[in-house]
Amino acid sequence: MTQAPARPQSGSTFESLNPATGEVVGTHPVQTAEEVQAAVARAREEAAWWGGLSFGERKTHLNAWKTSMTQRLPELAELMRLEMGKPVGDAMLEAGLAMEHVSWAAGHAGRVLGRRRVSPGLMMVNQSASVAFKPLGVVGVIGPWNYPVFTPLGSVAYALAAGNAVVFKPSEHTPGVGAWMVQAFQDAVGRPVLQLVTGLGATGAALCRAGVDKVAFTGSTATGKKVMAACAETLTPVVIEAGGKDSVIVDADADVEAAADAALWGACSNAGQTCIGVERVYVHEKVYDEFLSTITAKAAVLRADRDGKIGPITMPSQVGVIRSHVQDALDHGGRAVVGGIDAVGERFVQPTILVDVPEDSLAVQEETFGPTMTIAKVRTMDEAIEKTNATRYGLGNTVFSKVNGMAIAERVRSGMSAVNGVISFAGIPSLPFGGVGDSGFGRIHGPEGLKEFTYAKAIARQRFKPMINLTSFDRTAKADKQLAQVIGLLHGRAKKR
Ligand code: NDP
Repeated sequence: MTQAPARPQSGSTFESLNPATGEVVGTHPVQTAEEVQAAVARAREEAAWWGGLSFGERKTHLNAWKTSMTQRLPELAELMRLEMGKPVGDAMLEAGLAMEHVSWAAGHAGRVLGRRRVSPGLMMVNQSASVAFKPLGVVGVIGPWNYPVFTPLGSVAYALAAGNAVVFKPSEHTPGVGAWMVQAFQDAVGRPVLQLVTGLGATGAALCRAGVDKVAFTGSTATGKKVMAACAETLTPVVIEAGGKDSVIVDADADVEAAADAALWGACSNAGQTCIGVERVYVHEKVYDEFLSTITAKAAVLRADRDGKIGPITMPSQVGVIRSHVQDALDHGGRAVVGGIDAVGERFVQPTILVDVPEDSLAVQEETFGPTMTIAKVRTMDEAIEKTNATRYGLGNTVFSKVNGMAIAERVRSGMSAVNGVISFAGIPSLPFGGVGDSGFGRIHGPEGLKEFTYAKAIARQRFKPMINLTSFDRTAKADKQLAQVIGLLHGRAKKR
């Protein structure tokens, strides 16, 4: 099998390539550690201005950015297709969902982060207690290539809405898309509150060490660990959105046609290069045969090609990973009912469905990131949940069941679940997005995603002098006695159940 050509390098620039053809799409600078530091220094100046604006003023600027991007969405979608390989329709869907998030973050930051009163409790009743969430300053965002608009904006828009300046390092595979969004911000807002740095892994590593106040990383678990290690040197906090091994669980009472349709789309859309993509399916034995025949028929007519519904594999090195997972499954007793080892081409991988795959094989345990899935028969939903939870990952999951969808979803160890739909949670801006275990930690999207880029600022303001002054060396023995009585009254009596 011929290997895809190595990424061409020339001095201090690098090229982004069309993964369908290998043609050069654009040339971008490989920025040095000094250049990254200069960008962070500029961002810090901008943070002083941006962080001083009201939530309403930032909302106006962010909505202007969103409108300017939306008005040129076809141009952005075409660039996404060129650099990443996804069909234009999918690119439009991705970018459209991202605009929802920009809008939500801009519109809700004030309510979520603004100062609000909290109860001071009985012992501190003389105080007025309140909390607000303040911007950290400058946030570094290291983005992936698979969703080059939706995923980075899940950090960028929320960090900006919270009042931070952002330095964004897009993946080396999609720098043009990153540059386009940053330029759109400059055009709409007129100030470099959002800045771009481009380059390879070393540029991302330099961003971790450039004195930013937080790093938001999306990518592989292995690189996430490197990012954490670099950030640990300066106690820089991180949010890590890493990979997944998401399952679809199909119960005996499920709408089998809908479940098969969703599982196939979840596994093969974006050529399977989705962190919350479907990689495994566990089907109740009562509907297994019906499910398998339905999904097989649907998959058999699906093609990955230049004009098809499935694009190329973006990273040439990923083709080898996909091939190794399929081969490992076949070597250990698995069968391909659709596709197989010959479906793994040089740039395109055809849909592949594997059955009878041992649970400890690569295709069940490791992130494949291709248009493949394993399907296994289970006797009970307990077994499906146990197998779903038996990987190091815990990002997303899908459940198809008419009666027990919520109960099953509650028992899956993952940051998100979709019931009777697939990856629906990602399109709901008010829901937090993120995982557990090797899928990372911290959250983007929703109120949690806004708070992720802030620190809590608590203030207790005395409203009137207390009956007993607790925080004084003048406290008397009599006051100590009174205090003991109050504590006894508040906490010393057993509560009736
Ligand atoms: P990486 O995790 O290597 O890269 C993700 C981002 O981190 C890119 O912007 C990359 O820059 C940057 N980076 C690389 N090395 C460093 C470093 N030492 N310090 C800081 N930043 C760094 O993922 P890949 O793109 O190589 O993909 C590998 C695998 O990761 C995929 O096959 C898939 O399994 C998984 N993945 C998961 C994603 C998800 O959404 N959860 C997204 C992307 C990948 P550059 O691109 O310039 O190297």
